[in-house]
Amino acid sequence: MDLQDLYQQTLLDHGKRPRNFGPLPEATHRAEGYNPMCGDEVRLALLVEGDVVREARFEGCGCAISQASASMMTQAVKGQTVVHARELFDRFHAVVVRGEDEASDDDLGPLDCLTGVRQYPNRIKCATLAWHALKDALEGERA
Ligand code: ZN
Repeated sequence: MDLQDLYQQTLLDHGKRPRNFGPLPEATHRAEGYNPMCGDEVRLALLVEGDVVREARFEGCGCAISQASASMMTQAVKGQTVVHARELFDRFHAVVVRGEDEASDDDLGPLDCLTGVRQYPNRIKCATLAWHALKDALEGERA
């Protein structure tokens, strides 16, 4: 199995069985994202205490990439500081959207497999939807 297959399997697995899927009534921050190109929807809810993202959950529907991306994103930011969550967004955005060097992709850990969407420009919005919701949620007013 080559790396590409492994990435694809991880994506499909998250797409089929998204982690952190469901409502978060105690959320302090919320944001929604919609990708009209594909019909993907993501509603993100965060519970931020002090400067730590204690809980991250999402609801939504759409293609496997958008839901897998939201699933992985919530896993990646849960338990992290707000500063680190923002850094992850910047890093992810730099690699996927601006096509920056992959040399320091290590920073992205399991999110690495999402960077493969760079090869499919019309799917990039699917992969970044949840991340923009993350950014909006962190920048928005407290709910
Ligand atoms: Zn999509």
